Amino acid sequence: MTAATQAPQNSYNFQATVDQVGPQIVGGQGVHISIERDGQVTDGIIDAITGAAVGALGHADEEVYEIINKAARQSTYSYPCLVSNKSSEELAKFYIDNSPKGVFSAALWCTSGSESNENALRLIRQYWLERGRPEKVKLISRESSYHGFSLGAVSISWNPRTEPYTPYLMDREKINIKIPCAYSYRFKKDGETEEAYAQRLIEQTEKIILENDPDTIASLTVETLPGSSLGTCPPPKGYLKGLRDLCNKYDLIYHLDEVMCGTGRSNPNGAFNCWENFLDPADAPDIQTVGKTLGSGYVTIAGILIGPKIRDAYLEGSKAIGGGHTYSSHAFNCAVSLGIMQKLKRDNLTANIFEKGNLMGQKLKSIFLSESNIVGDVRGIGGFWSIEFVKDRATKEPFDLSLNLAPRIKAIAFQNKVNIMAMPGNPDGSCGDRILLAPSFVITEQNVDEIVEKVVKSVNQLTEELR
Ligand code: PLP
Repeated sequence: MTAATQAPQNSYNFQATVDQVGPQIVGGQGVHISIERDGQVTDGIIDAITGAAVGALGHADEEVYEIINKAARQSTYSYPCLVSNKSSEELAKFYIDNSPKGVFSAALWCTSGSESNENALRLIRQYWLERGRPEKVKLISRESSYHGFSLGAVSISWNPRTEPYTPYLMDREKINIKIPCAYSYRFKKDGETEEAYAQRLIEQTEKIILENDPDTIASLTVETLPGSSLGTCPPPKGYLKGLRDLCNKYDLIYHLDEVMCGTGRSNPNGAFNCWENFLDPADAPDIQTVGKTLGSGYVTIAGILIGPKIRDAYLEGSKAIGGGHTYSSHAFNCAVSLGIMQKLKRDNLTANIFEKGNLMGQKLKSIFLSESNIVGDVRGIGGFWSIEFVKDRATKEPFDLSLNLAPRIKAIAFQNKVNIMAMPGNPDGSCGDRILLAPSFVITEQNVDEIVEKVVKSVNQLTEELR
């Protein structure tokens, strides 16, 4: 296992300094990482979160190093608005060909999930201009959503992390419409079926659409399986289809954000799109954003997958996108991402994470829901799971935020050599502290057992501390 030299005593990295991020990653191999803290290197930490649900492949993958080497030699930079490149074409073709036929017909590549959502909003705006409907400007998104930290992405996000930046947003009152989130653990009523809960949400959403003049609404954006907001709440049965029907009825663009849950992380039968769990291809999104596992942490890449309806409006209209980013469709990033995607497919790794991830989730569920009095819910799909902590399992009352549960469980887990993400609950009590698990797609059953054992041990230690 590789280990770099000592980290500086005083950090010059602003985020590390302010957030007091003590440990530095100094190496990794497969599903394990090495970290250095105060000059001490610890090896053999199992990576159960892969950064922030980023790593599809393991660390230090030799085949990816070869792909990178080849891509570096073959990629020549061009400004994408003036000269295109082959690898961006090939990556787009690969994603389109590996999605249900006819759902997507073009793609645009950028460098982060936030940027992909910014671009989706920009493309949606131009779509309505192309269609001669300039008045369709309002953007619907959900309570407790997270779509990124750039300002456009913040404007469609409704959660405590993004709230402080709302003064910077233009006309939020006029443009942004909030609809309820889908959060079965807390908001599905006792005795209510999943279908009835979904129907209730759809009715509430339709009411909000009607109150806001549908002729002025451009789009509806949701995370297929929300990650860093509420934590992997599977949509209730019929919910995503119900939203699709509303979009058809009121002529809105249906935008699914799969930056965190998509590109193979939580998809049935080895498919890349998460929505294939819930929707037939006929009900697919008009536009979809992806990121994270697309580059697996080896390159910074994200993308916007564009359906034929949007593509055709541009081609039949102005035939111009009118601007782009210096690093859009970056040839090297696209070539590496393509190599990674091809490897995921060739080695059936998306099917592997679906199976092993579900195994991990089911094991955690059966242990915690029978044995723990501080775990309220264990939820997720495939390689994307959350554990929500509560003070009282009967009332679902969250722990007081002053207890700092999230950083505490994270620190305990590190001591037990498992890397997880921990998120504090919402200040208004609408969601408890959570941990998030998103291991790499290459995990084995043995790795699953290692993660489960270490997470259970950590939660038990926390339980003791809280006594
Ligand atoms: N969209 C969703 C659903 C996300 O979970 C995230 C990040 O966690 C983003 C967008 C933003 O992606 P990035 O951090 O790459 O900008």
